[in-house]
Amino acid sequence: MADKYRQALGQIIREPGNGVCADCGTEHPSWASSTIGIFLCQDCAGMHRALNSISRVKSVTLDNWDSDQVELMQGIGNSRAKERYEMNVPPFYRRPQKESVEVLKKEWIFAKYQRLEFTDADKQDAYNCAKKEGLLLKLGRDRKLFQQRKFVLSRPENKLQYFVIEDSSKKPRPKAEIDLDEVNAVFVPEKIGHPYGMQITFYKDGSTRSLFVHSESSKDIVDWYHAIRAAKLERRRIAFPDRDLDTLAEDLTRDFMLEGWLYKMGPRNEPFKRRWFTLDKRKLMYYEDPLNAFPKGEIFIGHRDAGYHVTTGTTEDKPTGGSPFCFTLHTPDRKFVLKAESKEEMDKWVDMLNKVIDMPLTPQDSKLAAILVPKKSNSIRLIKR
Ligand SMILES: [Zn+2]
Repeated sequence: MADKYRQALGQIIREPGNGVCADCGTEHPSWASSTIGIFLCQDCAGMHRALNSISRVKSVTLDNWDSDQVELMQGIGNSRAKERYEMNVPPFYRRPQKESVEVLKKEWIFAKYQRLEFTDADKQDAYNCAKKEGLLLKLGRDRKLFQQRKFVLSRPENKLQYFVIEDSSKKPRPKAEIDLDEVNAVFVPEKIGHPYGMQITFYKDGSTRSLFVHSESSKDIVDWYHAIRAAKLERRRIAFPDRDLDTLAEDLTRDFMLEGWLYKMGPRNEPFKRRWFTLDKRKLMYYEDPLNAFPKGEIFIGHRDAGYHVTTGTTEDKPTGGSPFCFTLHTPDRKFVLKAESKEEMDKWVDMLNKVIDMPLTPQDSKLAAILVPKKSNSIRLIKR
């Protein structure tokens, strides 16, 4: 009997919509929620276990199924469940994919099935709001301690601010005021060493300033992330009322394309120094410490047509002393000789840099080039294109 039901399930999973995980789109799901009636990948199935009474997960191939459960899977399935649970997903909401950070997947699942946020648009006040206030733990600039800070996001003022919580007799002054248009938020759990860690970046005095924050609640940090995205989309909607929302919702936040340790040769061929590199689309930043507030340098990466390219191995005027895994980023007026710790790491960086160099330049990229233009604080001259 059990075989008969499993066979039936094998048929149902081949029906349109069921071939990918209902929550993250991963192909060939092998798990299912026998109460919600959807097929899931192993990761999402694991997160569904925390929904307890709402979702019962079973393996499609290993567990025993009964006729009622199979009937439910037949009657619902991924497409119908999507119509019900994703009826009102706002355009700014980040739908997780296979490679997305765990906290985004987890909160997507909770928002969808437990809090029914996308079934009822009235349940989105925590992020779709004109003003949001709350406490987050922020890393001090000395990088030693996370301390509670009050964050305030205001759409009418177009600002994200944070405050030190002092005695209430004094009028609090914001420690930072960030224009919403230029703020970016990225989940960086490994870098911060906390599963709900987020990096907020913005420009300050011509350089990229980073704030590192986390919350003890996954819902809270994901709400802040979406509050920033929602506010940015609202700004764009007002500025470009004729454009369609889905187009405006592209790139509300940008994940870093690649991060990691590399060794960098000095501008006058000084010995290699270990630096933390972050590739943020056309901006390559390097830090002494990954959790520093400001990078030591920022390099604008222009288009191949403008003379940007990457080579591997040695460069004539930049002797590497025979070190393996070296590669050179050529910009129109400087060569950056970099060294990875393994061939695999080197290939990753070279591939990603080439990908960026070949991307078409956007108006935002030109704006970025203008911001990164000459810095007196270090010897790198950045190129305006
Ligand atoms: Zn999944």
